Amino acid sequence: MMLNNSVKEIFSAIKEEILKANRIVLSSHINPDGDNLGSVLGMYSVLKQMGKEVYPIIDDEIPKDYKFLPSSEVIKRPEEINFTPDLFITLDSATLDRIGKSKEIFEKAKKTINFDHHKTNDSYADLNYVSEKSATGEVLFEFFHTEKIGINKAAATCLYTAISSDTGSFKYDSTSSYTFYAASELMKKGIDINEIAVNLYQNRSKSKTKLLIEVASKIKYYFDDKVGLGKVTNDIMESVGAEKHDSEGIVEFIRDIEGLELAVLLKEKKDGGVRLSMRSKSQLDCAKIASFFGGGGHTRAAGATIDLPIDKAEEVLIEEIKKQL
Ligand code: 5GP
Ligand code: MN
Repeated sequence: MMLNNSVKEIFSAIKEEILKANRIVLSSHINPDGDNLGSVLGMYSVLKQMGKEVYPIIDDEIPKDYKFLPSSEVIKRPEEINFTPDLFITLDSATLDRIGKSKEIFEKAKKTINFDHHKTNDSYADLNYVSEKSATGEVLFEFFHTEKIGINKAAATCLYTAISSDTGSFKYDSTSSYTFYAASELMKKGIDINEIAVNLYQNRSKSKTKLLIEVASKIKYYFDDKVGLGKVTNDIMESVGAEKHDSEGIVEFIRDIEGLELAVLLKEKKDGGVRLSMRSKSQLDCAKIASFFGGGGHTRAAGATIDLPIDKAEEVLIEEIKKQL
């Protein structure tokens, strides 16, 4: 792939900062997923191999689905960091607020770098590399590969997981020929793609399965069945004994219904308000709808937090979707 001059310049500037730094903090968004955890831990393994002191922090619980990722046990909470980092690298985070309390450490750091693939990223760091690739894991692959920075097997496992997760296992239209090139190069590091696939896609817990069945049995359809909406209330969560991250995957299940263009999931938050998740198939821009609520994301997948009771949030959201259909 040909890189333009500005990409070459930003890559060498980033590499220079990494080489100069000793204590490096890595962070990413709350509500962790395969791409952000894979990116954080992929970067962790690469930097450790370079001899750096590296501290990955996430201001949230790590879903147990991702505990298989090499070094996942070293991830700390932002409260555990009590020094000024030489360098702070954010991954997969479109805005600084998305990293939660890690932001306080970001603001103290001597230098900051931001790697991301969200088109809505607002370039909040000293050095920013935002490229509309399928996953932040693919963005990191491009950086390491171009700069000839060694990717070991642990890092390759993490980056492959990141890419597989954010492309729905290489299905979404964000998947490009470069995505397959990255996957191919990562495979050459000796990773076990069956083990990754089993962990990512064939590992649903019983409580998560119960929750899926419960929510799926109550899907509401709007606009000639073009829009399907599921609701995860605190009551349902309790009745099936579900854990915080057990609603992951439901919005994709709704999206896969025949003829449906937009899938919506509303999830009640413990402290009031709801989390909105959307997935579209081919026409609607989810990021545009999410931005109405102060959220963001991509064309085919986006989210936001709505500070309204769940039924009211549904009403307001349906009005907003109506405008865009
Ligand atoms: P999910 O529905 O899986 O939570 O998120 C889908 C996509 O939208 C992800 O790429 C995620 O980064 C983005 N996203 C989700 N929630 C928010 C939000 O509150 N703000 C922004 N800016 N992006 C979000
Ligand atoms: Mn991502």
